[in-house]
Amino acid sequence: MTTLILDAPPQRMRPAPTVEALRDLILSGEMRAAAFEGVPLPDSMRALILRRQDEAALRDLPAEARDLRRSLHLAKVAVPQPDAGEVLVAVMAAGLNFNTIWSALHEPMSPFRYLGQFAQIEPGNAKHNLDYQIIGSDAAGVVVRVGAGVANCRPGDRVVIHPGVVSGTSVAAYRDALHDPDIKAWGFETNFGGLAEFCLVRANQIMPKPAHLSWEEAASLPLVNETVYRMLISENGARMQLGESVLIWGATGGLGSLAIQYVLRAGGRPIAVVSSHAKADLARALGCEAVIDRSAEGYAFTGADGAPNMRDLLRFRKKVKALNHGREPEIVFEHTGRETFAASVFVAAHGGRVVTCGSTSGYEHAYDNRYLWMHVKSIIGSHGATYHEAWKANDLVCKGVINPVLSQTYTLTEAVAGVERMRGNRHVGKIGVLCLSPREGLGIEDSGLRTLIGEDRLTLFATRPNR
Ligand code: NAP
Repeated sequence: MTTLILDAPPQRMRPAPTVEALRDLILSGEMRAAAFEGVPLPDSMRALILRRQDEAALRDLPAEARDLRRSLHLAKVAVPQPDAGEVLVAVMAAGLNFNTIWSALHEPMSPFRYLGQFAQIEPGNAKHNLDYQIIGSDAAGVVVRVGAGVANCRPGDRVVIHPGVVSGTSVAAYRDALHDPDIKAWGFETNFGGLAEFCLVRANQIMPKPAHLSWEEAASLPLVNETVYRMLISENGARMQLGESVLIWGATGGLGSLAIQYVLRAGGRPIAVVSSHAKADLARALGCEAVIDRSAEGYAFTGADGAPNMRDLLRFRKKVKALNHGREPEIVFEHTGRETFAASVFVAAHGGRVVTCGSTSGYEHAYDNRYLWMHVKSIIGSHGATYHEAWKANDLVCKGVINPVLSQTYTLTEAVAGVERMRGNRHVGKIGVLCLSPREGLGIEDSGLRTLIGEDRLTLFATRPNR
């Protein structure tokens, strides 16, 4: 562990409080606000950070050659303090996301440029613009301090975090938070993210923790769950209708494995695309009958020049239709980008929708536009979710309609190994990180709902071979 004390705590006569008393209080099941208000908090904490000083050397290398261990550091940093409207959360567990990789690679833009931009939006944001960034856009934990004016939660509350940060004065945000040009992803474009012992959020990022889930299961879900909710269900996304068929790229990944569940719950037909036999089996275990192993099929949808490859596009469409009662899918669930986008536009049904939130394989897409306009298809851009969409998606988890897809959990000390695993596409579902929680499986309050859903469904991704 890099021992880096940034913003060193002031000198004291008595020993500084440690995190143990707080951890013991949480593990005791105590929830009274007074008990949490009285517990002393440490001045410093462990966190996974990026450092401004690494920026130049990293950016000298091409992105593929950048070593995650040169950019991600476990360090001791100051515990942030909540100002008005903010909440300090003791993080029991956090979740990894693909944006953790983008952060570590300093792509598509310098994380410190993001912090600089965020600092310009509102005066209170200036404290984010430090020489280090605590990353991480998913967390579950316990509220320990609230700033002035916070009325929707209190110390002792068990919570998960919605990662959308909206500026308080954005007019556009009242229509749709994602129309706020200044909306930011917490722990990606802001500081004080979830991969730490404490995180700092705004009151309108707080959501109730699903009581039947462990800390790491709960932490693994909000970002992908709300993203999928907006992409498929919300009036701001593809507005999926009952019984529609949906082609899902990366169907056992974080987004994809949630998308399968949404389509099945809506009585639709998910057509899963994955890259191995084991992943195909996992998609089937999740309830998906129609599965394509893209590696076994050997598709190359674009040629070396980036132009669409008609032979493989036709071969793919034939396969999809064969698995979908002779029809093309009404919706294509896209996030894979350059290597798949031409196929997504091509294979969507007449009048269908391609909904996209990312570009894992590259963001400059080439596709044949005739297949879009002549067949009146639409491409819908989607990014994160509003607080309302996030809340609705979280509620589905609280009710056991949508289930976790956690496959592995690392400690904060080992978290970089989890990020490397994700970068290598050697994971399925989600990866959790224990922050204050001493071991896996803690934090479950409603074991009755757990029994009702079934342990096998809740732990499907953790218990099956998946590569
Ligand atoms: P993930 O867990 O790594 O899953 C991605 C899946 O994509 C993998 O399981 C892999 O499946 C598939 N894949 C990777 N490269 C591919 C390729 N060249 N062709 C076809 N499939 C490929 O990541 P995630 O959390 O689901 O996120 C996926 C993407 O969405 C990332 O780029 C992320 O940044 C973005 N995202 C955006 C938002 C937003 O709000 N804008 C939110 C969440 C995520 P197989 O190898 O099995 O096919």
